[in-house]
Amino acid sequence: MRPRSIVILTGAGISAESGLPTFRDKDGLWEGHRVEEVATPEAFACAPELVHRFYNLRRAALATVEPNAAHLALARLQRQHPGKVTLITQNVDDLHERAGSAGVIHMHGELGRVRCTRCDHALAWTGDLGTGTVCPNCGKTGYLRPDIVWFGEMPHHMELIAEALRNADVFAAIGTSGHVYPAAGFVGEARLAGAETVEINNAGTAVSERFHRHLTGPATVEVPRWVDGLIAPGT
Ligand code: NAD
Repeated sequence: MRPRSIVILTGAGISAESGLPTFRDKDGLWEGHRVEEVATPEAFACAPELVHRFYNLRRAALATVEPNAAHLALARLQRQHPGKVTLITQNVDDLHERAGSAGVIHMHGELGRVRCTRCDHALAWTGDLGTGTVCPNCGKTGYLRPDIVWFGEMPHHMELIAEALRNADVFAAIGTSGHVYPAAGFVGEARLAGAETVEINNAGTAVSERFHRHLTGPATVEVPRWVDGLIAPGT
């Protein structure tokens, strides 16, 4: 029998115990703004400095946090599972990579990258960004933006993701609320492909009823336990 193909979708909940806040738990506000109002192309057009400040703070916060046991367990699964493990994340942090995961599909972009809206050049970025920042490729000022998929924009790598879901034997959604589409629809696509589906979350979600199984608890506890069961079933 061929080794099973595992597809994993992670959301903000997997990074919460590393110290990166989720958007929807608590009040979901940042300086009195709903996050959905800051993370849009319209907000960037009307108030670019506000949007830059929001992402500058998020980018700086990355330097203060570390991957947790859930990120590390998924990297271990990628190393030890004999079949394919596709790791898709909605997160814009780099904690999967820092835990040792390879080939992470960042469907909502990355805080550590910026893109020029004039020449379309994208590059790694660690410091702050502002309306006065010059694009190192075209030399023009005021066109660099965070390489983040904002509300209303098309997520990245959708064809790659659709193919992985079509071939999935196991699909897991970890720490994601099921409010943001198309990611919230992946469980349905995986089920159509015949995959066994599992939701790992510390609470019920908008799409919980679509999963076969639920592992309820903190990601740092539930994810390593789930990975142990996949790598050494029955132990
Ligand atoms: P969300 O904030 O909508 O939901 C978080 C989910 O994680 C909730 O269902 C919550 O119950 C669960 N959760 C919280 N703490 C948990 C824990 N310790 N263990 C297990 N589950 C836990 O997040 P989302 O569904 O990913 O959607 C939010 C959007 O915001 C995404 O598009 C993402 O790009 C962005 N975002 C990213 C980050 C990041 O990169 N770390 C952080 C916040 C938001």
